[in-house]
Amino acid sequence: VFATVVQAPEDPILGVTVAYNKDPSPDKLNLGVGAYRTEEGKPLVLNVVRKAEQLLVNDPSRVKEYLPITGLADFNKLSAKLIFGADSLAIQENRVTTVQCLSGTGALRVGAEFLARHYHERTIYIPQPTWGNHPKVFTSAGLSVKTYRYYSPNTRGLDFQGLLEDLGSAPAGAIVLLHACAHNPTGVDPTSDQWEQIRQLMRSKGLLPFFDSAYQGFASGSLDADAASVRMFVADGGECLAAQSYAKNMGLYGERVGALSIVCKTAEVASRVESQLKLVIRPMYSNPPIHGASIVATVLKDRDLYNEWTVELKAMADRIISMRKQLFDALQARGTPGDWSHILKQIGMFTFTGLNANQVAFMTKEYHIYMTSDGRISMAGLSSRTVPNLTEAIHAAVSS
Ligand code: PMP
Repeated sequence: VFATVVQAPEDPILGVTVAYNKDPSPDKLNLGVGAYRTEEGKPLVLNVVRKAEQLLVNDPSRVKEYLPITGLADFNKLSAKLIFGADSLAIQENRVTTVQCLSGTGALRVGAEFLARHYHERTIYIPQPTWGNHPKVFTSAGLSVKTYRYYSPNTRGLDFQGLLEDLGSAPAGAIVLLHACAHNPTGVDPTSDQWEQIRQLMRSKGLLPFFDSAYQGFASGSLDADAASVRMFVADGGECLAAQSYAKNMGLYGERVGALSIVCKTAEVASRVESQLKLVIRPMYSNPPIHGASIVATVLKDRDLYNEWTVELKAMADRIISMRKQLFDALQARGTPGDWSHILKQIGMFTFTGLNANQVAFMTKEYHIYMTSDGRISMAGLSSRTVPNLTEAIHAAVSS
């Protein structure tokens, strides 16, 4: 009965790793996947995560019962505090509802399903370009997706004018997806003045902000600085949604731990919204898994573990920043044609190199270096050892 099912294409991001795994070359390098690697090229489990897991294992009161539909209550409270700030008025006024979700993707999907059922405007504007899964998540939930200009290939920076024009001509009430920090794939973020202008425009038109926060603390090394955009919108008393992921900042990729918060105008509305979120979640996966959320809650509520986490987080962010400098210096020293200063200016895990699909294909074929075809490289996958080979590959690709 399934004989007519056609072969689906590989996911454009995860497919890079599939191709990488098939390559027998000992020199191969995977810069496609958005996961942190140590200087030795190894995945990293944070010390605080190991400690939290130890505490959990040694706690005889811990059982494996189901969580409520909305997840672990402590985790939800602490997650809201982490993104909105310890002094958030919206939290104090109980105007925020937070539900535990299956990492950032799950939070985006639950938020989108809620909006499709209960919000009057079904169009969501996403930046052009954006993380490849965004349009699929929102379309699958029944929203209709449009794009707003974001990136200018000429300046390799923000197309701020284009962004303002496109959001300015969006229908009143439309949903707007915003990357809270470290925009993926471009690494280009608005300045805080630009954020303020975006906020004013969006509020004046009643556009609904939906923040995707997948890199809090990972971009600058500061949890507060990386949440500044979100807090700016919440401080004005208006509504917003925020999807949080602990994949990158706590290295909990495979644990699938994240949260969706919806900031409402009153506590009463927030409570009704939460009741509807439960109706969204229950038939999807009933309730979320317990382990990852318990790790996060353990780290966030213990002052020593929390402080230790911020140190480990900063170390990851700093290593990425230092890889930017090393790659930039190596290209300068090699005399590679072109202006590469965007490698230093861009923020977060990725550099949007400006290499085109042909150049990427050339680098994969000749140098066994894997990345997405839009020329995005994960700086977290790079190390001092691999910078020279990448430099040679880029040099050859742009010189040929
Ligand atoms: N949003 C953005 C912008 C991302 O880059 C990612 C991860 N690549 C996610 C959301 C979701 O990741 P996860 O579901 O693993 O938390």
